[in-house]
Amino acid sequence: MPIFLNLIFRGAVYAKTHEILAREAARLAGVDERLIPDLCLAARSPDLAPDYDYKVYLTHRGRLRVRRTRIKHHEPNPGLLKRYVIEARHRWIRGRREEAAKLVGRALHYIGDSMIISPSKDKDLHDRMERECSRIDPRDLIGELSLFRPIGKRETLRVLVESLESGPASSALEAVKRTLSTSFSIISSTLSPSTAPERFRVLGDRCHEYFRERRKFILILSLILTMLPFIALILLSLKLKPVIALASLIPTIAPSMTAGISGMILYGPRDMNTALYSARRVYGMLPWIIIGVIISGLIISGMGCMAIAISLTPEVIMVIIAYRRLFNIIEWKRVKDEIDWFMWG
Ligand SMILES: [Zn+2]
Repeated sequence: MPIFLNLIFRGAVYAKTHEILAREAARLAGVDERLIPDLCLAARSPDLAPDYDYKVYLTHRGRLRVRRTRIKHHEPNPGLLKRYVIEARHRWIRGRREEAAKLVGRALHYIGDSMIISPSKDKDLHDRMERECSRIDPRDLIGELSLFRPIGKRETLRVLVESLESGPASSALEAVKRTLSTSFSIISSTLSPSTAPERFRVLGDRCHEYFRERRKFILILSLILTMLPFIALILLSLKLKPVIALASLIPTIAPSMTAGISGMILYGPRDMNTALYSARRVYGMLPWIIIGVIISGLIISGMGCMAIAISLTPEVIMVIIAYRRLFNIIEWKRVKDEIDWFMWG
């Protein structure tokens, strides 16, 4: 019974710490007051509604099973946090502000926990630090913080990853300070206006123009990427059952069609926002086309249809040409990772 009470008591105290720090960071970042309750509630939520990790493993009897493990809070988990931050931003620029605030809140919880040593490494120190953190009033520390507002996705994720990589803090005071300043950076960037800032706009404009100059090439590329896998499908259906033919070509058809259709959208007379998002989709699909062609090629040649497997090679050639003729400019390399972080035009 005492252990049980102890758990409730501790849970309550430390959830409160998360909430206080989230509120302070949100105020510093100038978040709309109406969103702060959602954000703070979410900053407590990972302890109540945990995140899980799923792993597929092989039993000693040779069966595939899925294992579900609770994600540890006091160990850095950059993959999960990046996903939260990016998803929050996507919802924010689509106007789903409450949902965005909640996702940011959840990320802040993990950021706070990562500053404190894991109880599995040093239980006493962990407990003592959490207790001490709960006694610190963040408002007393504001003057000592070095606050940084990142601009764009790359800078924001860099702040996040650097904060996680620097490991647990050496004192409660340091833990609170680092939680506040990292939280400030994440909130102020993720919940900032959706319009692209000037320096990215200039790059985006140049890419938009560059794609417009290459419209004919984009059309040809899109047609080839859309049609090639279907020609292979027809040829293969003559030799194998259509279902088997389709199944073995799906790894090629899916990315190639997606790139082809996005390319056609890019070809049309589009506004900058649609053009950049479509270009990014084409670009993102290119490596998957190569992987798909390799997988389909291996399956098809394994079934003895070597000639049809070889007929997929123009896909690879088109991908290489696309890299060299469409995405080889310095402006694209600088702006490609920022596209989904903003609205353009
Ligand atoms: Zn936690």
